[in-house]
This record gives sequence, structure tokens and C-alpha cells, in this order.
Amino acid sequence: MMRKIVPCSVCEDDREMKLFHSHEAMNFKGKDITFEAEYYRCTICGTEIEEPGQLDRNLDAAREVYDRLHATPSPAELVSLRERYGASQKAFGMLLGFGEATMNTYEQGNIPDPVNRLLLKLARNPLVFKEIYATNKHRIGLTQRRRIESSPGYLGACCWDGMEGLHNALGEEERSLLGFTAQIHGLSIQEQVKVYASTGSRRDSMALYSPTEWDTPRPLFIALKDEKPHKAGVA
Ligand SMILES: [Zn+2]
Repeated sequence: MMRKIVPCSVCEDDREMKLFHSHEAMNFKGKDITFEAEYYRCTICGTEIEEPGQLDRNLDAAREVYDRLHATPSPAELVSLRERYGASQKAFGMLLGFGEATMNTYEQGNIPDPVNRLLLKLARNPLVFKEIYATNKHRIGLTQRRRIESSPGYLGACCWDGMEGLHNALGEEERSLLGFTAQIHGLSIQEQVKVYASTGSRRDSMALYSPTEWDTPRPLFIALKDEKPHKAGVA
């Protein structure tokens, strides 16, 4: 049992404080969760004291419970992530710095610890995966490297070289639509974006300068028509 001596505001003297745990319910990011919070209590008067860092620790504990329950990729999501890069369980784990069998246990339903959970989350971004691959590819065999380098996930990332900002600004669906459109036109992503920028901008500026093409008259025109008789009267 953790004990320490600190001043108690009720006893107005240094007192021995005893650590105790309690199960607390709270709403975290919209989800009801229960987590184990820790507090210190005066052994003489029973007052709880707030200790430096205690609130942060309890929030961390709540966040960890939330992440385990609501922010952990499912086994199916992990399989699809790994297969997008054409990697075996072992090779994928070695690239991310896990143990040889770790990915297998996650795909069986084991919950990744916070660090590995973060790595798995980062690996969902193909450009980040490509960086990880470049750093750690020496850890895996040639056959696995060939499979990964010819996978849709890896090749997809290569199309975005030099356009990391644009890649990350688009959603996954927008990216795959753009990639698909570029592919059927035989263009690079960059060329396809240029086509969109050129045609889209031209259409926008035409709409701006030819108001008669608007479907419904704008209030501005109605006002001008109403004013006509007045103008005629003046003239
Ligand atoms: Zn006390």
C-alpha cells in the first residue's frame, strides 16, 4: 500500500496519506466508460487530497479505457490493413517494430498496447507506411519486400511522391477516386489534379462573369427592373 506524508488542509498538520482506488464512471468523448481512478486520503481525518499530476493520471487512465474500447482497430481491420500492403503477419510486425508473433495475436483479438496501437494507426496512412518501410525493410526477407513493393497500398503511396500535403488533405475516398480517375485517363495524380484545377477554375470563372446563365434571377436584377420606370421618368 502506497503511503506518503503531506500537509492535510483539514488537520492543518503533516499527515500520512494512503493511496486508494475507486471505480469511476464518466462520459469520455461521448461514450460512457468506467475506469479505475486513484486518490490519496488522510489516514486521520479521511479527507481526500489532490496531489500534483493526479488529475492527469486519472484522465490518462480514462483515455486508455476509452481507446481500448472504442479506438482499437478490429481484427478484420488489421487484416485488411496488412493485406493492402501485401505483407505477411511476421513481416508487417517486423516493419512496425513488433515481435515476430505480435501481429498474429492482434489479428486473433488481443488488444495492442498504446504504442503499438499508435503505430498501427500511423501505418494506415500509405505515405507513413512507405517511410516505415524504407527505414525497416532490412529486417525482412527479399520475397516479402518484393510482395510489399508490388502491393496496391505501396504502389498507391508512390503515386503521391512530392504531394504529401495534398494526400493528407484529402479523405481516403477522395484519394482513391482521384487515383482511379487518373488511372483510367492514363495520367499521373499530379496531371489529373492539373486537369481538375484548369477545367474547374474555368467553369467557376465563367459562372462568375456570365450571370445570365443563372437559373433563377438574383434579387439584384429584380431591383434594377423595378427602377426602370423611375429612370425613364427622370430622363
Ligand atoms: Zn487530515
